[in-house]
Amino acid sequence: MRLDQNEADRAFRHEVRRFCEQNVPDALRERVRSGMRATPDGFRQWQNILFRQGWGAPTWPREHGGTGWSPVQIHIFEQETAAADAPPQFHQGLELIGPIIFTYGTAEQKARYLPRILSGEDWWCQGYSEPQAGSDLAGLRTRAVRDGDHYVVTGQKLWTSYAHAANRMFCLVRTSDETRKQDGISLLLMDMDAPGITVRPFHTLDEQSHVTEVFLDAVRVPASQLLGEEGRGWSYGKVLLDRERALTATLGVRLARQLEQVKELARKTPDAGSSLYQNPGFRSKLAQLEIEVQAIEQMGLRMLADNVAGVDTGPRGSMLKLRWSELLQRATELWVETLGYDGTRFASAGGAPGTVPMEQSGPMTAYLHSRVTSIYGGSNEIQRNIIARRALGL
Ligand SMILES: Cc1cc2nc3c(=O)[nH]c(=O)nc-3n(C[C@H](O)[C@H](O)[C@H](O)COP(=O)(O)OP(=O)(O)OC[C@H]3O[C@@H](n4cnc5c(N)ncnc54)[C@H](O)[C@@H]3O)c2cc1C
Repeated sequence: MRLDQNEADRAFRHEVRRFCEQNVPDALRERVRSGMRATPDGFRQWQNILFRQGWGAPTWPREHGGTGWSPVQIHIFEQETAAADAPPQFHQGLELIGPIIFTYGTAEQKARYLPRILSGEDWWCQGYSEPQAGSDLAGLRTRAVRDGDHYVVTGQKLWTSYAHAANRMFCLVRTSDETRKQDGISLLLMDMDAPGITVRPFHTLDEQSHVTEVFLDAVRVPASQLLGEEGRGWSYGKVLLDRERALTATLGVRLARQLEQVKELARKTPDAGSSLYQNPGFRSKLAQLEIEVQAIEQMGLRMLADNVAGVDTGPRGSMLKLRWSELLQRATELWVETLGYDGTRFASAGGAPGTVPMEQSGPMTAYLHSRVTSIYGGSNEIQRNIIARRALGL
């Protein structure tokens, strides 16, 4: 893969940089810079801004409304949007269900859903996990029973991110008990305003409420909303999980940006007559992290190139996800450490919005939220199992 950049790549970088300077809204920029995640409205706003520029789907092929960019261009785009403190694009519609719809969906499904993912009008949530089915996802019990030209869906989903903000859900359901448990699972596309759906958000330790429980009580879903074939949901779901893991790899560039912010803060922080940035202990931790972040960025870029070329990337998505989650946790920990006493204000104010300046509460929120990255999309123990089986043959 070519890593050196030619004239066209440099011109492209310049174009993205100029676009970001003129188009990232200040409120979003400030929030992202402080370490806070964008709100659902903020994510939608940024998606729509990109859509209007024709950049709604950097990784999709042109025929489905994507940019058709090369891996190097995608990487440049990620670097420049991160450097401009733009939020990442929200991935559940764009990167998870969108590609499954354009690969396996019917013509009607493509026409109905893809344009609204691109424009940011539709927000999709991922209804996979259940109270007794997280790591052991194949044990899911939410049931869909065929009734004429509908499925009737009953069960409960748990940990469904942003279901309270979503108008659509892609949902794994059990349609048969007669075969191997993986083969009795199907993937349904659901409207969140369908009668029988109740969403209950709950708080997490980062003092946000982005996860929910979703209760499904005899929800009638048109059979035309089945994605692909009945009983094939497990294989589509696995493609999707692999993609989710691989995606975290592009976030390596965001780690690099966070380290820049840590450096900036350290330069302003007094320490023993100089600045914290000059402290050898601090510099050593920072340098180690920078080296590891650079390595994961390159690894992510290589994987991106293989994905675009259709090369099987095996368990590399798991390796990247595992590594990224560990680095994110260390980077945000160093950020909070650099804040020193100011970092504790988040807890003393109970994280109540507006009580602590965002530049002090943001890093702590980011640090606390980073704990989740070693759980969602398959916990790190599960990733290690996958690597042991698929890479080491154990
Ligand atoms: C903030 C957050 C957001 C999430 N968002 C979504 C979402 O949008 N949609 C969705 O469907 N799900 C979502 N999830 C759910 C997530 O995918 C699950 O939490 C995860 O898969 C773990 O499942 P579990 O919570 O049931 O834990 P369990 O599977 O019960 O695991 C408990 C512990 O046992 C370990 N363990 C389990 N099995 C093994 C094994 N075979 N070998 C070694 N160790 C093992 C796990 O690593 C973990 O430490 C989210 C979770 C969180 C915390």
